Amino acid sequence: MNAQTIAVHLPDGAIREVPAGTTPLEIANSISPRLAAACVVARLTPLGGAKQTATGDEHGSEAAMYGAEDAAAPRLVDLTTPLTADTKLELVKETDPEALKVVRHSAAHVLATAVLELFPETKLGHGPATDSGFFYDFHRAKPFTPEDLALIQAKMAEVVARDEKFVREREPREQALKEFERDGDFMKTHFVTKFTEPGDEVSFYRNGKFVDFCRGPHVPSTGRVKAVKITSLAGAYWLGDEKNPQLQRIYGTAFFSQKAMDEHFARLEEAAKRDHRLLGKQLDLFSIQEIAGAGLIFWHPKGGIIRKIMEDWMREECLRRGYSLVFTPHVMRRELWKISGHEGFYSGNMYTPMELDDAEYRLKPMNCPGHILIYKNSPRSYRDLPVRLAELGNVYRYERSGTMHGLLRVRGFTQDDAHIFCTPGQIEDEVVACIDFAEAVLKTFGFLEFQVELSTWDPNDRAHYAGSDDNWNLAVSGLKNALERKGIAYKTIPGEAAFYGPKIDIKLVDVLGRLWQLSTVQFDFNLPARFELEYVGEDGERHQPVMVHRALFGSVERFFGVLIEHYAGAFPLWLAPVQVGLVPISERHHEYAKKVEAELKAAGLRVEVDDRNEKMNGKIRDFANQKTPYILVFGDKEQEAGAVSVRTRGKGDQGSMPLAGFIAKAKALVEGQSTGL
Ligand SMILES: [Zn+2]
Ligand SMILES: [Zn+2]
Repeated sequence: MNAQTIAVHLPDGAIREVPAGTTPLEIANSISPRLAAACVVARLTPLGGAKQTATGDEHGSEAAMYGAEDAAAPRLVDLTTPLTADTKLELVKETDPEALKVVRHSAAHVLATAVLELFPETKLGHGPATDSGFFYDFHRAKPFTPEDLALIQAKMAEVVARDEKFVREREPREQALKEFERDGDFMKTHFVTKFTEPGDEVSFYRNGKFVDFCRGPHVPSTGRVKAVKITSLAGAYWLGDEKNPQLQRIYGTAFFSQKAMDEHFARLEEAAKRDHRLLGKQLDLFSIQEIAGAGLIFWHPKGGIIRKIMEDWMREECLRRGYSLVFTPHVMRRELWKISGHEGFYSGNMYTPMELDDAEYRLKPMNCPGHILIYKNSPRSYRDLPVRLAELGNVYRYERSGTMHGLLRVRGFTQDDAHIFCTPGQIEDEVVACIDFAEAVLKTFGFLEFQVELSTWDPNDRAHYAGSDDNWNLAVSGLKNALERKGIAYKTIPGEAAFYGPKIDIKLVDVLGRLWQLSTVQFDFNLPARFELEYVGEDGERHQPVMVHRALFGSVERFFGVLIEHYAGAFPLWLAPVQVGLVPISERHHEYAKKVEAELKAAGLRVEVDDRNEKMNGKIRDFANQKTPYILVFGDKEQEAGAVSVRTRGKGDQGSMPLAGFIAKAKALVEGQSTGL
């Protein structure tokens, strides 16, 4: 091929031969000007041995912003970047999740532009995109006031309206450093020194008069930042060191449209109302108590009843699906954790050892070694397999103080943990059964949507992984085949597997569209070897079983936290701690209240009578504040007719109905684990 011509592979399979130096924008324009106008950046994957890189918060890291690019990795570039070698090219539109990061980082430039126009004495630090927006660190003797922020916000709108092109420029490193030093830009000097080498060219982006040291990419122009808002101001020390100058970090967020931004803030508001810590207190479900320690959960009676229902359901399902229930100790000898390897690679997450008279003990961070000891306690033949051991096991893990978060991040929790010991030939059926089970959990508890990720090894980094090639191939194809048999769409993430085996992660999608990682099906080639697990095969020889860890709630505490937020505390009838609130209108109906209560209880319903000497409306309001699914009100008329007046959560007054009729309806909803009332 002519050296001046390069091959650009498009996602539809078409290959364009274009002169070297052609830009993605030119290619987009040659397809359609409308497409070109809709694009934000381009994703290039070099041909031949492309390496997958992690995305996530990588964009926010300093190295990602300033460091040298990994030429072999897929990367986002400006639409105006000249293409110099054969490549795969994907034109990235506004709907691509990575495009959002690009517009947010571009918004950080818009923010810095505005700040320097208003407060030219300010020195610039670091301005990355984050998961929910962006920030920029500024150094300025005078703190920004709320009035300053309002001025900055207004100035940003001007910068956006000016629709300045983001243009990449390059300058020799030494010259750039000289200029930064001359201007007292100590932070930029630091970044250039740290992330470039002598003799390098340094990359800058210009929009209008504003220039920033940055490797990009950016949206084509400031006008593409269609919605941007400053959200908060915080202090931060330069390089996180309190001996260094204090910086002012301005946070903001940005979107491609005002509508998307409005939806974002509406979602935040809704999420704040659903915060499980708030609702946990308001509905008296659980607490965390300073005197007992951070990250340790107290389940109150109303949370406790929900937990009992979750656990009963889980244990029954385990039995129905061929698991055996086991219980293992909370503390075990340190020796055991040495064999399992936790003492080595997991020690930092464990509580420190405690000395007893015979040995040192440690609290368990995982249930696996306990289940393995049960497996190992009897000789096993292929006829015994699969052995499926399940436990709602309490585990304790050290989390740094300050990182705990309600029920979601704790130091002690309950895993609905199971370990499956099977032959290689049984892998696929076992995985299918695990996925079926996981689907049943999600559906039963009211989550209709989920996403699946398959984490596999990085074949270029073979030495990093335990287990034979055969094992890995078997396990990965077992997981893949299982997902395909189930017809489940999934994303493969190479290099994301643990060193001891591939896994499937199932992320549920809650009512606000948030993803929660809960269920995992994880292979393990390491522990069976460490514990020398065996079974006698059909051939009479000893073999090592395959081991699968799986947890479906994941953590009962965390799952409960997600449930609270998903339902905003308005649990379905079968989970509601108090299913029916009784409101006698006056004292002379207390006798009838007792009868109604007794009948509801006899039908297995959880009831609370409010026989305080209060006004009827106050009692109804109190039950409603507790999000009680049904409130039954009764006076003379109902008493005479053997009826109740029904108020249904979310639907209001439904009028009077015979007590027996109400009971039949409520029982059917509970039995059907219905999410509606
Ligand atoms: Zn930038
Ligand atoms: Zn395990």
